Amino acid sequence: MDVSNRIVEGFLRAVFPEACPVCGTGCDGPGPCGRHRLKPSDDKSRCGRCAAELPRGIPDGQRCAACARRSLRLGTVLTLGDYSERSPLRDWVLALKHGGRRGLAQPLGVELARRWRARFPEAESPLLVPVPLHFLRRIERGYDQAHLLATHLAAEANGTLCRALRRQRWTAPQGSALESREANVSGAFQLRTKHITQLKGRLVWLVDDVLTSGATLRACARVLRKGGARQVSALVLARAVRGKEPLDRVGG
Ligand SMILES: [Zn+2]
Ligand SMILES: [Zn+2]
Repeated sequence: MDVSNRIVEGFLRAVFPEACPVCGTGCDGPGPCGRHRLKPSDDKSRCGRCAAELPRGIPDGQRCAACARRSLRLGTVLTLGDYSERSPLRDWVLALKHGGRRGLAQPLGVELARRWRARFPEAESPLLVPVPLHFLRRIERGYDQAHLLATHLAAEANGTLCRALRRQRWTAPQGSALESREANVSGAFQLRTKHITQLKGRLVWLVDDVLTSGATLRACARVLRKGGARQVSALVLARAVRGKEPLDRVGG
C-alpha cells in the first residue's frame, strides 16, 4: 500500500472506527457496508465447469449448455460470483488489484475457502497453486494478489500453498478475440521443477482473481498436468460476464 492510501485508511479509521474495508463508508457495525457485503456464493446455482450462472431450478455444480458442448478443460471452476457492473465483487476486485488494498485478500480468501468447503465437504486438504504475475508487474504493484489469496485460502481451508508456476513472459491484458487470447498466454507459464514431486498424482487448485476467457487457466493447467498433476481445477474470485464489461480493464 502506498503512503497516500495508508494516510486515507488511517484517517477513515480515526473518523469511522467501523469503516467498510472496500469503500471506507462508516458502518453501524464491523465488516463491509450494505453494498459491499458478500453474500455466500451469491445464492445462485453455477456451472461446475465454468461458473456461469445456471437457469433457476438447476442444481449448483451441473454443466451449463455451453459446457455440455465445449468445456474449459478444467475439472471444476468455483467463484464467489460475477464480475459485472452491478456486482459488489467488482469493487472488491478493483480495490484489491488496482487500489493497493492488499488487506482485502484475507476476507476474500476466507469466503472462497467457504465456497470450496460447501461444495466439497469431504475433500482432502487442497493443494493451491496461484496464477503468478510477471515479476515486473509484481514490483510495480508491490504484491501479487493471487498469491495473497492463495495464502489466506490455504490458512482457512487447511491447504498447502505451492508456487509451482512462474510467468516467464509479460502478457497483454485479456480482452480480444479468443484465438489471440490463447496465443497471448501460450508458453507464458513455466513449471518450477523443485515442485514437481508435490504435484505428482494430485488434484491441483489454481487460484486467480478474475476468470475472463479461461485462456490463462487453461495454459496453467496444461503446464501443471505435464508436471504430473492428475487433475486441475480453479478457485477464482469472480467470473467476467462477457458483453457487459470492458474485459481489458480486468487484465493483470
Ligand atoms: Zn462499502
Ligand atoms: Zn459452463
